Order: sequence, then structure tokens, then C-alpha cells
Amino acid sequence: EVKKNGKNGYQFYTGELNAQLQEKIELEVELRQALMRDQLFLDYQPQIRAGDGQMIGVEALVRWRHPSRGTVSPGVFIPIAEETGMIYELGTWVLREACRQMKTWHDAGGPLITVSVNLSSQQFHQPNLTTYIKGILEDTGLEPQYLELEITESMMMDAAVSTGILNELTEYGIRISLDDFGTGYSSLSYLKLLPIHKLKIDRSFIRDIVVNKNDKAIVATIISMAQHLNMDVIAEGIETKEQLDILTDNDCEKIQGYYYSRPLPAVEVEQEFFAPMRIAAAAK
Ligand code: C2E
Ligand code: MG
Ligand code: MG
Ligand code: MG
Repeated sequence: EVKKNGKNGYQFYTGELNAQLQEKIELEVELRQALMRDQLFLDYQPQIRAGDGQMIGVEALVRWRHPSRGTVSPGVFIPIAEETGMIYELGTWVLREACRQMKTWHDAGGPLITVSVNLSSQQFHQPNLTTYIKGILEDTGLEPQYLELEITESMMMDAAVSTGILNELTEYGIRISLDDFGTGYSSLSYLKLLPIHKLKIDRSFIRDIVVNKNDKAIVATIISMAQHLNMDVIAEGIETKEQLDILTDNDCEKIQGYYYSRPLPAVEVEQEFFAPMRIAAAAK
């Protein structure tokens, strides 16, 4: 329902829309405080090598422990952070925390695995990105080869036209992964021009892969292309053994999905995925 204010022509939206807007404004205000009040935290989703079940990396995923709403998912608050410019501060916190945690694990004798961090396009365009990320790695002590940045296809296209940013990052030793691969707009020719280490097959192709021949064909093609381009490939959103079998039959060994594990708090990653002897070492 839309009401018109006769005097100045402003419109007041009521009902559903008003409630949504109201909620967004509330979240915006609360998100500003969330960082200071320590309400953000990271879960880590294991990435598994199917052949031997070893964890080869984790993806850091941010969550907001909201005082009254419970855990708010990044799908809700990342867009707000992007709209309001809070993404810089939030993104810095995520990068620092992810690197700090991985360095702590390495130091405690945990497996020498990578941590993947999602970047927003605005972060990607911040000036001196390489210097800024170098600073975080130096502060936390994590070696660059253990950090993987997840960017989207549109970010890759931007990088291609604007700067040598991807080259700078990879020359420093950081790895670049193309997230949600296959869902964005990108030109395949950039895959050979730019330093992309890994394709991450989007879970929309996985969901129906057991029954949908087209999805299966697309996934098989992405895997084969990655191999020919000498890139790594990982599938996300694997939930069942049947899906897993199709991926491994097609030579995709790296898997992220509920089949192996949901995103977990750091301590649960240690409990469930670190070798027992190593946990003992970490406890000392
Ligand atoms: P993404 O980077 O594609 O992350 C994977 C998402 O898929 C995660 O959702 C994860 O929980 C979910 N997922 C993993 N395996 C499965 C599965 O087997 N089945 C299903 N149904 N889902 C699965 P989440 O944690 O809600 O994150 C959503 C998105 O929010 C992420 O998608 C990413 O784009 C964004 N995001 C998360 N953390 C950050 C962050 O720190 N910074 C930025 N810029 N974006 C983030
Ligand atoms: Mg991701
Ligand atoms: Mg993804
Ligand atoms: Mg995504």
C-alpha cells in the first residue's frame, strides 16, 4: 500500500515494504556496533581430498552472532556492509582473523593447509590492495602461499581491464580462486591470461547433477578445462555420496560440501579433522 502525502509529494510505504526497510535500517545500525562488540565470528568449512579423506584447506565464512536475532547469515549482512561501506572494516577483520587462526594452527603443529577468504568487489578495488594484504600477512605471520582469495568472475573481468592487481598478488605468493564458477559473466579467454589458480564449481551445477545430464556435462567440461589449463578445481555444495561419485569419476578430487562437513567453529575443525596426536601437541 502506498500513501501519498498531499503537501510535499513524499511517499510513505506501509505494510510489508515498510517492515523490510525498517529491518534493514535496524540491521545497518546494529552492524556498525557488531564489530566493536565482538559479535562477528568465522566458521571454517573443510575442503577435502576425496581419495584419502584428508583436509587440504578451509574456507572462512563470516557470521554475526546477533544479540536478539541469533546467528545472521552473510547472505543477509554482507550486502548491507557493501551498501554502507562497512565492507572495508568488516573485510579487514575477516582477513586478519582467518590468517591469525591459520597461523595458530600451523604453529600448533596442525596440518599445513590453506585458508580461503571471500573478497567483495569493493575490497578488491581498494587502493594498494597488495600492500594492505601483505601487511595483514606480515602482522599475523601467515606465509602467503597459505592464503587463497576467492573472487568472482565479474571481479576477474574488472581486474583484467583495470590493473595488474592479480599479478601483484600472485607474484607475492597468494593464490586466487574463482568462486561460483560458471554462474557469472566472464570470458574464457581471461582464464589463460590471468593468474587464476583454481576454479570453484558453483553448487547450482551440483544440486541436480545426479539426474540432470546437462549439469553433469557442464561440470565434466569445467573439470576438463581446468586440467587442460593447468588449474586446480574444487566442487562446492556436495551433499550426497551419489554427487561425490560423479565428481570423482570425472577426476575432481577436491570437494567442499555438507557431505563431508558443514562450516564449523575453529575448535570443532580441530576436534573432527586434525589428527589426534596433533591436537595433543596443540594443547601443550
Ligand atoms: P560462497 O563463498 O559461495 O560460500 C559457500 C556457501 O555455501 C556458504 O554459505 C556455505 O555454508 C554454503 N555451503 C557449503 N556447502 C554446502 C552444501 O553442501 N549445501 C548447501 N546447500 N550449502 C553449502 P554461507 O556461509 O551462508 O555464505 C554465503 C555467501 O556469503 C558466500 O558464498 C560468500 O559469497 C558470502 N560470504 C561469506 N563470508 C564472507 C566474507 O567473509 N566476506 C565476503 N565478502 N563474503 C562472504
Ligand atoms: Mg566462497
Ligand atoms: Mg561459492
Ligand atoms: Mg558466492
